[in-house]
Amino acid sequence: MVQVREGVRVAKFGGTSVATAAQLLKVKAIIDADPRRRCVVVSAPGKAHSKDTKITDLLYLAHELGSKGQPIDQVWSQIETRFLDIVRELKLSVDLKPVLNETKARIQAGCTPDYAASRGEAIHGVVCAALLNATYIDAAEIIFFDKAGRLDAARTYGAIAARCAGSKRVCIPGFYGTSASGEVKTFSRGGSDVTGSIIANGVDAALYENWTDVSGFLMTDPRVVAEAKGIAEITYGELRELSYMGANVLHEEAVFPVREKAIPINIKNTNRPEDAGTLIVADRDPGHQVVVGIAGTKGFTVVALEKAMMNSEIGFARKVLDVFASHGISIEHMPTGIDTMSVVVSDKQLGGKLDAVIEDLQAAVKPDSVKAVPGMALVATVGQGMSHAIGTAARLFAALARARVNIRMIDQGSSEQNIIVGVEEADLPTTIKAIYAEFA
Ligand code: ASP
Repeated sequence: MVQVREGVRVAKFGGTSVATAAQLLKVKAIIDADPRRRCVVVSAPGKAHSKDTKITDLLYLAHELGSKGQPIDQVWSQIETRFLDIVRELKLSVDLKPVLNETKARIQAGCTPDYAASRGEAIHGVVCAALLNATYIDAAEIIFFDKAGRLDAARTYGAIAARCAGSKRVCIPGFYGTSASGEVKTFSRGGSDVTGSIIANGVDAALYENWTDVSGFLMTDPRVVAEAKGIAEITYGELRELSYMGANVLHEEAVFPVREKAIPINIKNTNRPEDAGTLIVADRDPGHQVVVGIAGTKGFTVVALEKAMMNSEIGFARKVLDVFASHGISIEHMPTGIDTMSVVVSDKQLGGKLDAVIEDLQAAVKPDSVKAVPGMALVATVGQGMSHAIGTAARLFAALARARVNIRMIDQGSSEQNIIVGVEEADLPTTIKAIYAEFA
């Protein structure tokens, strides 16, 4: 395992970790237990139980109603009650009434949706700062976007370093910053993960702790393999491959800011802080654990083309890709043979355009045949050590043969940390189980 160096830790707490007074007391215990946890980033209160509604969703709803000139009182009282209950139960001496009234008035007066949504974090940040005896720093004063809507890294990191340096403990709301025109702008949903990563970069943290409600990543979907083991250590690159196929505990953009400085991310469970969780690192020694995770998703179609002498026809692949591009479809994979070429596309991308695509392919490359095979699932087997461990592919294919799974497509990514197989959707659980049993 990679050793985490000594130094400042950034601790980000997600919605369920900060949903109630009881959860917030766990957060306080975690922060107080380790003086290195000097920078705390918080989400808005999430769901307190499965039928609950996230504060962020209520704020978007209030904004929608407000923008249509409809009354927001009912939604607003839900939002207000959540915050006021937390403050009362924790016996904090913060008076949220003025900020709540001001926010309600701004929503009624037609503020932007980003402004409305960001208030969940902004207000909760004040509450958490009081609970943790931390200095509150408004994210709007330290996170900046450029004209293209991308992070203005120089300005942001400079501001974070300057503002966070002097304080023993700071508390920063996640999810938003300031746009080039000076307005509040949010990241996409779940974006407090990104805020935490940016803060970690800005303060040169030794570790970015991402506290959530699970003890890290599992090797595969527990709905398919009930006994799926946890992943102790995974690289940024491996995680990227897995999340692309549907494993989503962390916002996909959260890796980039810490990756620049090789700061590890530790996914931790607020409800079980003693669990080690998953450590996401720049590089790891695969040891005997060649495969780190297995992820699969349904919903792909293969468009298969055949044409005699295809291999000597200059520009064939380009013409095929142009057809997909002209329909605004991004493709997943393109396995080729000598006289065959298949294009694997997700059904979401394909929409209702399949017939038109086939017609255009016929006109563009005059294939001997073109047919579409729907109902395919892709399964990614991911592990950095694969490129060096001879026989990994053989083990994988033998395991699938024993399980009597018919492999429709094979693709080993050029990064050599990933083998993707295409199987019929009905075979997806059997495929995942067989690969897991072979490599776990
Ligand atoms: N509160 C925001 C959301 O629900 C951001 C976050 O929690 O990360 O998407």
